[in-house]
Amino acid sequence: MDFARRWRHIWAMDRDFDVIIAGGGLNGPALALALAQGGLRVLVVDARPASARASVGFDGRAYALALASQRLLSALGVWPAVAARAQPILGIRTSDGVPPEGAAPFLLGFDHGELDEGAMGFMVEDRHLYAAFLATLEAAPGVTLRSGASVTGQAVDGALVAVTLDTGEVLRAALLVGCDGRASGVAQRAGIRRTGWGYGQTALVGAIRPERPHQGLAHQVFLPEGPLAILPLRDGLASIVWSETEANARTISALPDEDYCALLEARIGHLTGRVELAGPRFSYPLNLTLAEHYVAPRVALVGDAAHGVHPIAGQGLNLGLRDVAALAEVLAEARARGEDIGALDVLERYQRWRRFDSTVLALGMDAVNRLFSNTNPLLRAARGLGMRAVGALAGPRRSFIREAAGLSGDLPRLLTGQRL
Ligand SMILES: Cc1cc2nc3c(=O)[nH]c(=O)nc-3n(C[C@H](O)[C@H](O)[C@H](O)COP(=O)(O)OP(=O)(O)OC[C@H]3O[C@@H](n4cnc5c(N)ncnc54)[C@H](O)[C@@H]3O)c2cc1C
Repeated sequence: MDFARRWRHIWAMDRDFDVIIAGGGLNGPALALALAQGGLRVLVVDARPASARASVGFDGRAYALALASQRLLSALGVWPAVAARAQPILGIRTSDGVPPEGAAPFLLGFDHGELDEGAMGFMVEDRHLYAAFLATLEAAPGVTLRSGASVTGQAVDGALVAVTLDTGEVLRAALLVGCDGRASGVAQRAGIRRTGWGYGQTALVGAIRPERPHQGLAHQVFLPEGPLAILPLRDGLASIVWSETEANARTISALPDEDYCALLEARIGHLTGRVELAGPRFSYPLNLTLAEHYVAPRVALVGDAAHGVHPIAGQGLNLGLRDVAALAEVLAEARARGEDIGALDVLERYQRWRRFDSTVLALGMDAVNRLFSNTNPLLRAARGLGMRAVGALAGPRRSFIREAAGLSGDLPRLLTGQRL
């Protein structure tokens, strides 16, 4: 046995798992599968019982997955269970509008043919994505799932982190990863502070059946109260993410379905024709929350625990999956070199890879939301000019398409579809 392997063997004896992941939403399961591929033993602890989430019927909640995220799901073996239910995104259209002014011309439009890689991304319903993760997790060697249990404490003790569950159990690992969402308890207990602000907006989310076929197009309509996205689903349905001021959202949420649809038609009828509701209505208050650090001794943060962003460009989960791919690659390489995977210098490689990129994207989406969520005529003219310029110039146009597909920047292997 060489030195690195022998040291790893002795060091592994004291721990129950190599990595404990707090949070089994979507990023937690993705990370567990990626780490198991890299040869690590992983425990996922999720507060919400898996059976409750897996038994949800159609509710229209869905994600726009960038092409790079789809490649990661392929590399993790999750995609085959989702593929037949995913709607390819064949084009993106953005327009500016003030209801009920009528049809607004497109400011910017892209088609998948310009990318030469097939679809630009895929719309996937939450219920199908979660069920696919769950089935893959349950079959994955090296992964244990504890759902319906919470992480309530953590303490670093030399080469280990002791993680306490609400069942009273204390489990030891080399690393604890917080995939526990925007109010991450893992971050709080590690003393990682957050910065951010509320948007004074609420996202109204639901599924509609538009009169006109969507043709695989994703629309982003910029309205004074906030952006409204119409995202294509299978079977002729579409998912809407409709950001409104908090006061408007409260009023709209209280409306009966017919009045809700009438308001929606005043905003997007020029694109969809008549709309009917095709599922329940949800609302999400919107805020930005950024962790000041993504790592601390024996702790790393991934996904919304590290950065909770505005849903304006449907990038939240895509950003989280980029974290997953980067952290898994850093840890797999560290393990192969015989390094301690929970050591701060190893974790800082992950932070250097991801923090700048995520912060720039989060603040970029924040700026776009501010620039577009108003009626200032000067700003309207300036943003129209800016977007038309992006559309007309070959360089910026290509950059925009590659960014939307998640193909720009220094991509970890999993995002190119390669296994670890
Ligand atoms: C309206 C809206 C639309 C969106 N649309 C898109 C889109 O089109 N594309 C896209 O990429 N992203 C989108 N997003 C963002 C996306 O939903 C999130 O980025 C993503 O779901 C975050 O996943 P996560 O696993 O990091 O966190 P979460 O989904 O928040 O999961 C956290 C998990 O941690 C568990 N947990 C919490 N505390 C504990 C604890 N102490 N112990 C154990 N478990 C714990 C919770 O039970 C939960 O299961 C959208 C968001 C919103 C609000």
